[in-house]
Amino acid sequence: MFRALLLAPPGAGKGTQGERLAQRHGVPHLATGDLLREHVSRGTDLGRAAAAHMDSGDLVPDDLVIEMVLQRIGGHDGGEPMTDFLLDGFPRTLPQARAAYEFARKAHRTFHAVIVLEVPEDELVRRLVRRGEEQGRADDSAEVIRNRLAVYEASTGPLVEYYEERGILVRVDGTGAVADVTERVEAALAPVLAARA
Ligand code: AMP
Repeated sequence: MFRALLLAPPGAGKGTQGERLAQRHGVPHLATGDLLREHVSRGTDLGRAAAAHMDSGDLVPDDLVIEMVLQRIGGHDGGEPMTDFLLDGFPRTLPQARAAYEFARKAHRTFHAVIVLEVPEDELVRRLVRRGEEQGRADDSAEVIRNRLAVYEASTGPLVEYYEERGILVRVDGTGAVADVTERVEAALAPVLAARA
């Protein structure tokens, strides 16, 4: 049993750590940014509705994202339903967190742990600028990066307290080598998962 959420600002390594953690725990890595980028490139209705928000570094409206994720987890989009997962990039707002909790409670699939990757802002900016140069992601330009960090603080920051109050928050230093961060996450997760077993 492993249902965890990665909560971290852009550039903190969510995607990289998400893939590693999902693989280690044998669960699907469900990254909403990746799902949304896929919709944009396929030109679906959702992709068309999401693209402008993503390009400017703003969040895609809650109702669209909630629908997309719950459909995916529930297996109502043609895929298999998921009982375990590593969620990356969702929830990102309090309304999303409340909707996720409602769904999870009814389906008996509440999260076991929420992992916060902590990285200082100047390091985040350095990493995002480098990724923009290497991968050419449209939302990794200097102006959009600033907006994404501000959006994270305003909309996603409050989730740290929300999950801290529920006693499932794990804070991890996200600086340094990728493998070291993964080991730190695993070490911090162990007692939380043991307590839930
Ligand atoms: P990411 O790859 O996680 O950085 O996500 C890229 C972009 O996708 C974000 O800047 C948002 O525009 C959008 N996005 C991803 N996840 C969400 C979410 N849970 N709620 C709203 N927008 C999202």
